[in-house]
Amino acid sequence: MGLSVWKAAEIAAKVAETSNAQKYRLGAVSVRRKEILSVGANMMVYPLADNVRGLHAEENAIRRVEDPVGINLVVVRIGWTGNWLLARPCDNCWDLICKTGVRRVFYSIDNHHLGAEWVNRKLPKRILEAG
Ligand SMILES: [Zn+2]
Repeated sequence: MGLSVWKAAEIAAKVAETSNAQKYRLGAVSVRRKEILSVGANMMVYPLADNVRGLHAEENAIRRVEDPVGINLVVVRIGWTGNWLLARPCDNCWDLICKTGVRRVFYSIDNHHLGAEWVNRKLPKRILEAG
């Protein structure tokens, strides 16, 4: 990815600040080549109903891209002090990620680590460490 993945993650963290969720605040950024194509935060839908789940950041970012095949997705979850927390996508989001042809997913693990996973490829998962 031309745009540094750490830079994209910083932007995702800013996007997470726009979430209206009470507890989990996540931001996602989709990137193709050096360009950011979309951003999205997780959003709760109010009033809450038992069977209604909010919009996850990954879905939000993916749905804003006309053709998501081959995009990279960078997802960051922030705590109340802006610290980064684990943001590996949930099963529903992985389904969407696979179906829509996302190429690779990066997600915050903590302030200094990002997970990096290829989608639909038998390549090893990596942990990237901030330099
Ligand atoms: Zn999800």
